[in-house]
Amino acid sequence: MEITTFFIITASLLLIVVFFPDLFPRCSNCKKIKPRFMFRIHKNVSLRLGYKANRSVCKKCCRKYDLYTLNEYERYESLREKVVYRLKNKL
Ligand SMILES: [Zn+2]
Repeated sequence: MEITTFFIITASLLLIVVFFPDLFPRCSNCKKIKPRFMFRIHKNVSLRLGYKANRSVCKKCCRKYDLYTLNEYERYESLREKVVYRLKNKL
């Protein structure tokens, strides 16, 4: 009896660890963790587990920066990194 409950607990914990980033993804732009329905872009980019496997952008950031696809977001991100790099070098 105790062994079965132990197995059930570990199995459910594993399931939570595996599926949590899909149910509550983290926005790549604002770094906030929100429920899945608040995301417009959500894609698996690698086979790793956890938050590094997915790229997602929430609806709020999509509306703010006028993004519709992951490619648009990646272009926006590279542009932002360039601007940050230039600002840092000037200061
Ligand atoms: Zn966001």
